[in-house]
Amino acid sequence: GPSIVWFRDDLRIADNPALRAALDRGEPVISLYVLDAESDGVRPLGGAARWWLHHSLASLDARLRERGSLLILRRGPAERVVAETVRDAAAGAVLWNRRYGEAERAVDTALKAGLREDGVEVESFAASVLFEPWTVRTGVGDHYSVFTPFWKACLALPAPRAPLPEPREVPGPARAPATDDLDEWSLLPTDPDWAEGLRETWEPGEPAARRRLRAFLDDDLGSYDAARDEPAAGATSLLSPRLRWGEISPYTVWHETVDAARSGRHAASAHRFLSELGWREFAWHTLFHFPALADKNLKPEFDAFPWPRLRPTMLEAWQRGRTGIPLVDAGMRELWRTGYMHNRVRMVVASFLIKNLMIDWRRGEEWFWDTLVDADTANNPFNWQWVAGSGADAAPYFRIFNPELQAAKFDPDGRYVARWAPDADERDQIVDLRETRQAALEAYEAVKRAR
Ligand code: FAD
Repeated sequence: GPSIVWFRDDLRIADNPALRAALDRGEPVISLYVLDAESDGVRPLGGAARWWLHHSLASLDARLRERGSLLILRRGPAERVVAETVRDAAAGAVLWNRRYGEAERAVDTALKAGLREDGVEVESFAASVLFEPWTVRTGVGDHYSVFTPFWKACLALPAPRAPLPEPREVPGPARAPATDDLDEWSLLPTDPDWAEGLRETWEPGEPAARRRLRAFLDDDLGSYDAARDEPAAGATSLLSPRLRWGEISPYTVWHETVDAARSGRHAASAHRFLSELGWREFAWHTLFHFPALADKNLKPEFDAFPWPRLRPTMLEAWQRGRTGIPLVDAGMRELWRTGYMHNRVRMVVASFLIKNLMIDWRRGEEWFWDTLVDADTANNPFNWQWVAGSGADAAPYFRIFNPELQAAKFDPDGRYVARWAPDADERDQIVDLRETRQAALEAYEAVKRAR
């Protein structure tokens, strides 16, 4: 019978090992995507993510149609929905690329067992990380909690495999299974339609992702090492949402970067860029080993932190970019408008929320989850915990960013602030940076005592 490819965070046809294996079976291919907000522990998507997903699914569908099939859309608890699709289509095999969150793995494991019992072939593949969590081990068989030795260990493993070519044809079955209408999923905002800035900023889908990688490697790689921390420089790849949705494979990014650096000219930048991909790997590994990453402090002594009662007006001022701190407001407005924020500014706004407003990092993580187009269940909580000091290989708590010094250093001519928050310094600052810094350091004493 036909082969079902269950697409998840891998919305691409190039370097997609599950799709490749389906084609190799020689049977018609049914490409399936399941919108699952019901399975236990699966985190419902945020608003910006839903916007991206809509367009990425439309793009994948168009690419499959050019190749002789289409994308089948279903919604509901994935274990049930996939099993039903298998039965209705009398499929002989189901293929997918692996996921690393606990809830997602539970779904996949249960489904695999059930299908195999029914005699359906099931196979899964590595596609969204370069090194799978169980393959990277310390000398004593443990997992790493510090980045530098982690990445060194990854680099000592056999190099990531070469990317698979893009298939020219994806032949579907004579009669395609029923599919939902993408518009009926209502992934796009309507009332109000807040997505104008996203539409202006992004083109979701695999072809645009590939063009972005090419443009970055051809035009920007050389300046990456020197300019990556300057939010106005446009020096970074903007690949994060593309990697989040799997529109481009990390294997493709890896090999094309290595090739681009072969001339030797951009070696330092390429090295730095690949190690940023390494942080992405490290976040996924950390989630694999610590599934509660979005809820619980990785370092338990941080449970003793005396968070004051939440002041909603403070949280809202931060969310809306009305703190009166120019760099913070610029970042939060860039996020609101575009679904993205530069990494340096993410660190500054996160530090400000946690340490100057003394608001629990989880509130910030939730806001980012809802507003970022690249939010994923590993990198978002991982980075929030990194800034909070409670995470893996985290910045020490007492290192509190001063947003004014950060602006002077990384936005010296004020271009970034002028673009996003030109009016910011006309208003009062909602907190005194020095006083709140002192209060945060005093509160941190409780964590030190708990250690
Ligand atoms: P580039 O500099 O071009 O880097 C290339 C790739 O490396 C990125 O696309 C990304 O996949 C990876 N990368 C770079 N920096 C990091 C990092 N610090 N941690 C993990 N991977 C990294 N990144 C996400 O992908 N999803 C998130 O939900 C997310 N939440 C964050 C929350 C906070 C509080 C902070 C401080 C950072 C967060 N990041 C997150 C990491 C980082 O800010 C973005 O990956 C980066 O800004 C994306 O821009 P780029 O693709 O141009 O990066």
